[in-house]
Amino acid sequence: MSFIPMVTPPVMQPETAWWFVFQNNKLLVEEKDGSVTIPQIRNLQEIGMTPIRKQYLGTLDGQHCYSVEVDEQMMPPKTMEFRGLRGLFESLDKDLWSIAGQAVQIVAWDQTHQFCGSCGQATESMEKERAKVCQPCNLTNYPRLSPAIIVAVLKDNKLLLGAPTRYEGEIYSVLAGFVEPGESLETCVAREVEEEVGIQVKNIQYFGSQPWPFPNSLMIGFTAEYAGGEINVDPTEILHADWYTVDKLPNFPGNASIARRLIDWFIEQHQ
Ligand SMILES: [Zn+2]
Repeated sequence: MSFIPMVTPPVMQPETAWWFVFQNNKLLVEEKDGSVTIPQIRNLQEIGMTPIRKQYLGTLDGQHCYSVEVDEQMMPPKTMEFRGLRGLFESLDKDLWSIAGQAVQIVAWDQTHQFCGSCGQATESMEKERAKVCQPCNLTNYPRLSPAIIVAVLKDNKLLLGAPTRYEGEIYSVLAGFVEPGESLETCVAREVEEEVGIQVKNIQYFGSQPWPFPNSLMIGFTAEYAGGEINVDPTEILHADWYTVDKLPNFPGNASIARRLIDWFIEQHQ
């Protein structure tokens, strides 16, 4: 399927559209023949709901897409339910999941940028751009993205994996962290690895990237080689870290995140 992002909605409300409906960051999905999908309806009234705010997203194979936010009290119809986006990764169509990831960020941005951060006046949405402007002080706000690096560090035939405190030691993964103002991605990779496990790296190479809407990250993946140091973890972030050969890997992330793609890449190289 092909998605074209757009900002300006059609003049006439379409007969049917894809509706990405959010309630507290949870997405409304419809159960159909044992699988889940996004409701294709004319409007929210059709399913007994009233939107708080509505945004136009673009077209998916020519069909218009909207996102909306609804009140906590709204009850979905029997065949539909609100579910966490992360948990829908395996069951929802990949294109729809990806648009939903974009939609959840636009909904949250719209909700939190109703007023100017500088002077407090109400903002206005721009017509041809995904932006909100404050007329009195001319401050323009765009949806915020937080870039984060994620890196697979190799030492001979071993991969560096750490057990982040946020997974309570049950899952091991490659290291990751947010880019700070003024940092290049390479500087960030070197800093994060040094801070989290006390290791120096060299030969930092770009691997790939992935939007990660939890809440508004862009994950930028790298590979790197060990250059020096002994493992010494920062206990506030990492419970334990070590070098692992391909035949002795601990529990690692099971979904198709970029962390998993980096680990799969290591496995392919060392089988
Ligand atoms: Zn202002």
